[in-house]
Amino acid sequence: MSTLPRMFTRKFAAPVALAAVLTGCAADGSFDSSAAMNVGAGVLQAATLSEDSVKQTASLAAQQMDSENKVPPSSNAYSKRLAKITQGMTNIDGLNLNFKVYLSEEINAFAMADGTVRVYSGLLDAMPDDQALAVIGHEVGHVKLKHSYQQMQQKLLTDSAFAAAVSVGGTVGTLTQSQLGQLGYAAVNAQFSQKDELEADQYAVATLRKLGKDPYAMKRAIETLQSKYGSGGGFLSSHPSNDKRVEKIQAAIDGKK
Ligand SMILES: [Zn+2]
Repeated sequence: MSTLPRMFTRKFAAPVALAAVLTGCAADGSFDSSAAMNVGAGVLQAATLSEDSVKQTASLAAQQMDSENKVPPSSNAYSKRLAKITQGMTNIDGLNLNFKVYLSEEINAFAMADGTVRVYSGLLDAMPDDQALAVIGHEVGHVKLKHSYQQMQQKLLTDSAFAAAVSVGGTVGTLTQSQLGQLGYAAVNAQFSQKDELEADQYAVATLRKLGKDPYAMKRAIETLQSKYGSGGGFLSSHPSNDKRVEKIQAAIDGKK
C-alpha cells in the first residue's frame, strides 16, 4: 500500500478526501499490514542517524508543511477549539508538543518526531471534542512511543532521494524544500505497523483517562469514522483487523493488555 501523491488528493479535494484519510494513520480506523515489510533494509544503518538530527529535520519538514497548508490564526474558531482540546498536553517527558490546525476538508491528523501535531479542520468538523482528543492522543502516542521518529529515520535511511544528505557521521545535511515536503507527506501518509497502531490507541485511552475524559471516546472516534465512510465498502471493509483494533481498545479501557 503506497501513499497517495499529495497532488492527487488536492486536485480532487472533496471526493478523494476519503482516500486521503484512509491512507493516513490516525483517522482511518484501520491498519496496513504491509508497513511491517518496509522495515528491514535500513535496520543495519539505523543507529547511524542521531535522534537530534532526525528531530531537527522533522521540524524543518513541519515548517515546510505549514507553509504549504492553510494555518489559521490563533483567533480562528478552529484554532481556539484545538487549543481547548489539547489543554494539558503540551509537553510529554520534556518534549514540547506543538499543535496547529490545517484548514482542509480532509478528516485527518498527523504527528512528527519533533512533537509537531497537525489536525485538519475536517476532523474537527467530523467529531465532538472528546473523540477529536482521542485521535490527537493517538497521534501524540506515535510521537511519545517514537513511531514518528522511527518512521522518519527509516525514510531518510532507505529512500535514495536522501542518500546524499545523510552522512556517515549520523547527521542529516541540508535538504531542499522539495525533500522536506516529501518528508512531510510521508508523515501525513505514515503507514505504521499494526502493533504501533494498537500501542498508539492504548496511549490515547490512557491520555483520555489522565485528562479526566471518557476513554470510550477512542472507540466512538473509530465508529464515527466508520459511519462517515460506511461499513459496506472501501478501505475499511478490506481490513478485518479493524475489529481487532476495537477489541484491543476495549481491553485497554478494561485495563487488560
Ligand atoms: Zn496511527
